[in-house]
Amino acid sequence: MTATLTHWINGAAQPGASDRFGDVYNPAAGEVVARVPLASSDEVESAVQAAAEAAPGWAATPPIQRARVIFAFKELVESRKEDLARVVTREHGKVLSDALGSVSRGIEVLEFACGIPHLLRGDYTQSVGTGVDSFSSRQPLGVVAGITPFNFPAMVPMWMFPVAIACGNTFILKPSEKDPTAAMMLAEWLTEAGCPDGVFNVVHGDKEAVDAILAHPDIAAVSFVGSTPIAEYVYHTGCAHGKRVQALGGAKNHAVVMPDADLTMASDALIGAAYGSAGERCMAVSVAVAIGDKVGDALIEDLKPKIESIKVGPGTDGEADMGPLVTKAHYDKVRGYVDIGVEEGAELVIDGRDLSLQGYENGYFIGPCLFDRVTPDMRIYKEEIFGPVLSVVRAPDYDAALQMVNEHEFGNGVAIFTRDGDAAREFANKVEIGMVGVNVPIPVPVAYHSFGGWKRSLFGDHAMHGMEGVRFYTKLKTVTSRWPTGIRSGVDLSFPMMS
Ligand code: NAD
Repeated sequence: MTATLTHWINGAAQPGASDRFGDVYNPAAGEVVARVPLASSDEVESAVQAAAEAAPGWAATPPIQRARVIFAFKELVESRKEDLARVVTREHGKVLSDALGSVSRGIEVLEFACGIPHLLRGDYTQSVGTGVDSFSSRQPLGVVAGITPFNFPAMVPMWMFPVAIACGNTFILKPSEKDPTAAMMLAEWLTEAGCPDGVFNVVHGDKEAVDAILAHPDIAAVSFVGSTPIAEYVYHTGCAHGKRVQALGGAKNHAVVMPDADLTMASDALIGAAYGSAGERCMAVSVAVAIGDKVGDALIEDLKPKIESIKVGPGTDGEADMGPLVTKAHYDKVRGYVDIGVEEGAELVIDGRDLSLQGYENGYFIGPCLFDRVTPDMRIYKEEIFGPVLSVVRAPDYDAALQMVNEHEFGNGVAIFTRDGDAAREFANKVEIGMVGVNVPIPVPVAYHSFGGWKRSLFGDHAMHGMEGVRFYTKLKTVTSRWPTGIRSGVDLSFPMMS
């Protein structure tokens, strides 16, 4: 008997009413573990109504009281993080330690959100003119929505709603329909932490729910994280409906390995960055750019035994380094890309395609794959694979490597491995990428900085969390005031001067 999930609307579980459901799988076993309701526009409407009714009261709640709710919620998530991680592992497939790490990164955003009252403080200037004072403040937008991907079912929602709620907005989350249970746990715990009904709502669904969110006149802003084609669609459709939109998309993150790099350190870092979470991370490194053939040959030699020793298994196996891919469709897509790479003439140094695990024959497991001599015209270089496939590209020199990175359509993350401070500084300045690592393979900014790429990895003007998140979820208002005492009367049509 598989469980049937509900939506979470106005502080309570709401069974799906559309008669459309999706299957949620345990990808290690290839078995359905739950059914998720797929909302119609009517169900989105009832979530918007609940959020809109709660909005004025929540906006008027003093920021410190809102922060106390987030603080109580943080305590609950902290004390139950293993439960949350287990659910992430069950529905996503990533190994438990990795799931736990992602929950911890989400908790860091909660910690940041507890301090948001400090960031909502405005500026005040006394006497901008004679007897005239001016102050500015940041006010919430009202009802806002978040649409999230499968690869971080707890962390990516936590990039969004704690900041939005702490800023005084009410929130509707449309999580990925592939691993939706984590969102429901967060909703229940937020209510338990004292969050008023209607402030946080979860509506499950697919394109129909997303389209209803994008078109709804009472939703002021939409945050999206997912693949680039959908990010672009969400951005343009949301903007056409007058909304503020931040839409984070896909990635193809390069790591440039310079001839002076500590090669062992670089290859160790590449293993974690390429194969951690089976490559299903938007900050995964999927391209290693070796400067010169000598570096390329040495890198391949160093990587090979390390990759061969990666243990693939179900996420619940404490010995496993890498779990399965999220769905059968995604498994087919990743496997298909490895076939394409071979057809394109790249050298498949390690082939993980035919991995079979005893007892898990129906799971969506693929072993780590390594390609050498990949070139920028190949599809496996240009397109996001989102699986455990690392491509080594050989560039003649640093300038060619920089140009290659800058010409790629994506601009999420990049890393350079070098001992040369000048080269690292010049690279960090000139590279057309939003998040840059120097000897750091996955340069994910901490919660009080902001997360976001450039080019076709982010549509919109704001990155997530940190000050960028606060700016996204608030409107600036500036009040200029003068009190009647001593004001001269009389009509004056000239341009206002503060003198
Ligand atoms: P996806 O684009 O398929 O889905 C993301 C969300 O959009 C889901 O909630 C889904 O229900 C919805 N959606 C899917 N198809 C839709 C459609 N046709 N119309 C409207 N909505 C639709 O992405 P995914 O497969 O869940 O996640 C993986 C992708 O997310 C990868 O491309 C990865 O790089 C990206 N990602 C990016 C970041 C980042 O910060 N840039 C972070 C995590 C994941």
